[in-house]
Amino acid sequence: SEERSLNFIEEIIENDLKSGKYKTLITRFPPEPNGYLHIGHAKAICLNFGLTKKYGGYTNLRFDDTNPVTEKTEYVDSQQADIKWLGFQWENELYTSDYFDTLYNYAVKLVENGLAYVDESSADEIARLKGTPTEPGTDSPHRSRSIAENLDIFTRMKNGEFADGAYTLRAKIDMSSPNMLMRDPIVYRIKHADHHRTGSTWCIYPMYDFAHGQSDSIEEITHSICTLEYVSHRELYDWFIAQLNIFPSHQYEFARLNLTYTVMSKRKLLQLVNEGLVSGWNDPRMPTISGLRRRGYTPESIREFCERIGIAKRENLIELSLLEFCVREDLNKTSTRVMAVLDPIKMVITNYPEGRSEVLIGENNPEAEDKGGSREIPFSKELWIEREDFMEVPAKKWFRLAPGATVRLKHAYIVKCEDFIKDESGIVTEIHCTYYPESKSGEDTSGINVKGTIHWVSKAHAKVAEVRLYDRLFTSESPDSEEGDFKDYLNPNSMEVIKEAYIEPYLADATLDTRYQFIRKGYFTLDTDSTPEHLVFNRTVSLKDAWSK
Ligand code: ATP
Ligand code: MG
Ligand code: MG
Repeated sequence: SEERSLNFIEEIIENDLKSGKYKTLITRFPPEPNGYLHIGHAKAICLNFGLTKKYGGYTNLRFDDTNPVTEKTEYVDSQQADIKWLGFQWENELYTSDYFDTLYNYAVKLVENGLAYVDESSADEIARLKGTPTEPGTDSPHRSRSIAENLDIFTRMKNGEFADGAYTLRAKIDMSSPNMLMRDPIVYRIKHADHHRTGSTWCIYPMYDFAHGQSDSIEEITHSICTLEYVSHRELYDWFIAQLNIFPSHQYEFARLNLTYTVMSKRKLLQLVNEGLVSGWNDPRMPTISGLRRRGYTPESIREFCERIGIAKRENLIELSLLEFCVREDLNKTSTRVMAVLDPIKMVITNYPEGRSEVLIGENNPEAEDKGGSREIPFSKELWIEREDFMEVPAKKWFRLAPGATVRLKHAYIVKCEDFIKDESGIVTEIHCTYYPESKSGEDTSGINVKGTIHWVSKAHAKVAEVRLYDRLFTSESPDSEEGDFKDYLNPNSMEVIKEAYIEPYLADATLDTRYQFIRKGYFTLDTDSTPEHLVFNRTVSLKDAWSK
């Protein structure tokens, strides 16, 4: 396979390992359990786990659960399932909430060293005194209280003596720092809320900036990789570690994944779910890992996508069509070819004996080395074919069915169109053909050359299935940056439901996570709504890029 050049994080790691700065590489993936993981998270997962796969060491899964209000066990479970499905295994399952004691002790240490103070200023007051990026802030009137008093109030905050918002604990850094985040950032806030793991043990919770770096340090994370929004947080990350004199983890930032026609924040995806605009987190139109999986994406295709987009230091926007390209490539190699008719019209083979049927053999996958094995396909006098494969008045270079034209029925015989029937409204309802018995696929002695091959299913043997076709969820390339609400740009035609498609009987035994190519129609997989009595298939992607410019 092609060798790609090192990305900038790999370069840093190779240097750090070479110089002996670190002996073992330890990374972490730190999701907040406040929603389902999406394709952007997949990029961070592939990066963090991919690095320790490549260089040795290990990756922790750390749930960044410092916000008791939005976090749920359902999300913890789904996030674990999604990471495993992507093909990665963490070394340790950890929770920031497990460090609440240690983090509290770190905060006490800051107070004892005169590096943190309690402040009863209101949120508005704190914001007002913060200054602006061009003007320095102003010290809080409570900044200079004694260490003993700070310790006393902080202990009482922890003990639950005060209401939400009555006090915060702030790091005492520099109210005139050019970096706004260094202007005495809040370290702890009071929040009387039950936490999904620690229950009512705590009523003060650490802020992200205090929890994250210290958790990295506790786990001796060597390279703490996050997205570019955190560049300005790095100074604070380093400050806490230096003041506490704990293991020196380092933060590195890369560009987050942005995809066209997609929103990618859990908060916005949650809105779509809560407002019933999609059927759930795993709606096949969602950019979530569980949605992509249900849609029929493979872990291989998502990993390949993440590899192809690479790791950059500057924000960019990736084409959704690249993700589709990756899954198409993978499915082309691996999927079982079958026949399904989505918009059926009846074909009668007038010279085929009434009541007779035969079994034809179809290769499952010409792209696979063993051809994917083969399957039996029943054939009989009456078939379903695709309406669009017939033209009453053929266009130029039309190689499919038309009056007098010949085509091959895939895996079966050559047929000639002799006649057709229309109803009163002029709609063609039936096509009459004759077949050439000596033209059977694989043993054709007819000498007839045809240019077109069409798919079909035997009417007497076909199974009915519901088929769901998807399009992009948004009509705007960048719904986040449009005027107004991103939901105004939802694509009203993002799902087309075909209630009665006809499929080969072989597909009655389809299983979840098996991928099929409905030949000439795209790649499909069974949907989780499917039952043996009511089969439902999702189209993962069409065969060709349908809407690239
Ligand atoms: P969201 O806004 O979608 O909730 P988040 O960053 O708040 O994203 P976290 O659960 O905190 O979500 O993310 C876990 C990890 O995944 C973080 O390290 C974060 O940097 C990374 N991540 C999140 N979104 C993306 C993205 N679009 N591209 C790359 N990495 C991402
Ligand atoms: Mg986050
Ligand atoms: Mg978020």
